[in-house]
Amino acid sequence: MDSTKKNVELESRRDFLKMTAAASLAASVGGLMPGEAHSQAARSTGGPWYKRTYRWGQINLNEQDPLHYDMQWWRSYWKRTQIQGVIINAGGIVAFYPSKDPLHHQARFLNGGDLYGDLVRAARADGLTVFARMDCGSAFEPFYKAHPDWFAMTVEGKPYVVGGRGGDPAVGMAPGEDDDVVLYTTCINGPYYDEYIPKILREIIAHEKPDGFTDNHWAGQGRDSMCYCVNCKSKFRQASGKDLPARKDWNDPVYRQWIEWSHKRRLETWDLFTNTTKAAGGPDCIWSGMLSGNFVQAASSFRDMKELCERADIIMLDQQGRASSGFGPPGTGLNGGFQENGDTGKRVHGLGGWDKIAPESMATYGPRKAARPIPEVRMWMVEGVAGGIAPWWHHVGGYQEDRRQFLVTAPFFQWYAKHQQYLINREPIATVGIVYSERNFEWYGRDDGNYLALAPYNGMIQALIRARIPYVAVHADNIDRDANKVSLLVLPNLASMSNSQVESVQRFVSKGGSLVATDETSLYDEYGDRRPDFALGDVFGAKYTGKRVGPHNASGLDHSYLRLTPDAGQDVDGPRHGNEPPRSAARHPALRGFEETNILTFGGVLHEVKPAQDTTVLLTFVPVFPTNPPENSWMRTPRTQIPGLLVREQKGARIAYLPADIDRRYEQGNIPDHGDLLGNVVRWAAKDTIPLEVRGPGLIDCHLYRQQDRLVLHLVNLTSAGTWRTPVEELIPVGPLTVRMKVPEEVTWKRLLLTVSAETVMPVHQKGGWVQFEVKSVLDHEVVVLE
Ligand SMILES: [Zn+2]
Repeated sequence: MDSTKKNVELESRRDFLKMTAAASLAASVGGLMPGEAHSQAARSTGGPWYKRTYRWGQINLNEQDPLHYDMQWWRSYWKRTQIQGVIINAGGIVAFYPSKDPLHHQARFLNGGDLYGDLVRAARADGLTVFARMDCGSAFEPFYKAHPDWFAMTVEGKPYVVGGRGGDPAVGMAPGEDDDVVLYTTCINGPYYDEYIPKILREIIAHEKPDGFTDNHWAGQGRDSMCYCVNCKSKFRQASGKDLPARKDWNDPVYRQWIEWSHKRRLETWDLFTNTTKAAGGPDCIWSGMLSGNFVQAASSFRDMKELCERADIIMLDQQGRASSGFGPPGTGLNGGFQENGDTGKRVHGLGGWDKIAPESMATYGPRKAARPIPEVRMWMVEGVAGGIAPWWHHVGGYQEDRRQFLVTAPFFQWYAKHQQYLINREPIATVGIVYSERNFEWYGRDDGNYLALAPYNGMIQALIRARIPYVAVHADNIDRDANKVSLLVLPNLASMSNSQVESVQRFVSKGGSLVATDETSLYDEYGDRRPDFALGDVFGAKYTGKRVGPHNASGLDHSYLRLTPDAGQDVDGPRHGNEPPRSAARHPALRGFEETNILTFGGVLHEVKPAQDTTVLLTFVPVFPTNPPENSWMRTPRTQIPGLLVREQKGARIAYLPADIDRRYEQGNIPDHGDLLGNVVRWAAKDTIPLEVRGPGLIDCHLYRQQDRLVLHLVNLTSAGTWRTPVEELIPVGPLTVRMKVPEEVTWKRLLLTVSAETVMPVHQKGGWVQFEVKSVLDHEVVVLE
């Protein structure tokens, strides 16, 4: 990357952050700083293409497309969907232009044509920006035969291969299943990446220059497919002085070195390709490889999302649908909801900046040629946009017989284009920061990241969404930078923490910031090695006894409970024992809503701790007892002193620590009590800072933003997703919803615009620092603009 340019960009990013930091006080009530409107407006116009191209479209060409590509129809579709940029297949596995390189496989039916060039010229004539699409992940057999040492090898010295028909491992076929195509996986450490791809990038620029390049599979082999080719061997030896590790062993220092070396190589590759395209095509001819929104998947493929989102000029996300639709990475339980996409937006913008464009490839089909149900596609788009993601429609192949897939795009893209000004260049308003780190997914999660690290994170965000509490995602390395904008940090099993991350949390709390943490948070170091005690034990007010109770694997569930204190009294109807207090005493606000029960189901993992004197234990553990036969199902040990939830208040900070994995349990078991408990704990710890109240039925994901002289609120109706099996086939409206938003009292708000239902509300009902209004009905989403 051009260093001057990078510095300029870093400066402007720093200014942006400085500005938002200055605005943080006002931000907590959704306020605005004078002059902010002007500078944001300046950013939204002008600048290079990658800072102003929001709406994208992609026809992922296949080898047959050159035969009968209907240019005229697709151009009319570009226009109808109001896209500003297209992604056009150029080269890599298959060249769609007449490449001079004999090993660069020409599309089977290209016949000397130039479909890539034709499409670029058409796009230019239509005023569209062009991303040339590459795929340097694999190549055909003749290439492998010419340069076998450029390809990834197993430990036995056999090439890694993937099935053909597109060669996309996400839907790829096992070798031998295809009719005639086997693709060989290229090695990221060989000359294919170092020399060949840069040469091809230069050839494409010389042939028909695109505005920039993106790449589908640029990151090489993942963690579970170690490469033992000659280049990997020699480069690793050069870097470490050691031989490649023979096998996966997280405790082997050489394996650890290999992981970190592999990450570094992806960053070098990113820089090499970026520098290549800029040198050949000019400073704005950027290269930006595709990234996954799922951080467990990103870690296992060595894509360091923090580094990459900071590096990327535009963040190209290849996450085409929710996990449970078969388009995302495999996950479990609630990990399959549309809300995953809103969260992805928060995380990538939290890393790369809210002023950076992050388009996401959104599949209209499934698996390849049939249309996906419109509600399923639409909800994924709606959630992405709520999280600040820019829309990018995606069809596979230039000819489609299931034309229903064209019905979903135009209405959504037209709505986006009409209201784009409210959807870009904005900052989230939230007083709750959910802390995560990639090292926690990687080094603590290791081979079980979904269960160990992602499930608690997803359980916690699901609880917040259900409680309608806006949150931002804070990377653990950015706590010092970002936490001054929130009043509460939540650490959902952030087990693996570096000393400096621990210190950042300690600093935040010492300044009066509140904290909620769960499970094994801070019990491991940055390599996932166990510490003797919680590094944040002094903050939690808990000392680990070293004893763990609960099931030992993901599928296990114990018949255990958590006991609420104090006991409900005889004023609650039910059979009597005689030992109940006459009247129920008041309970802590974190236990609100549970007045008629003394126990909550649990079943999960609990780490036994000794509480500090100034903590209050609100839940205690009831150990496992038989479920069957029913005659045998009575509590053997109804009461223990083992804490399940500790709370304390210190210098204005509220601290809650759950030694029980309630967040993971909520993700896995979807027990409403667990969601309510987490919502209550967060609400108590956040005090009265939460800037939004939404009343009415349904599961609503609320995203609140500040922009120029406006507040923008997304209300996404996830109710239907909970009603139907995947895919969602019908959307069910909810409403009316009564919404209250905290606003600076000194501002007079003139109007409310409901962009989806196309309603304007005037005058605005404004009282005591809150604006209140009603949204009559929400089908898929509503985006409310207050100005
Ligand atoms: Zn290799």
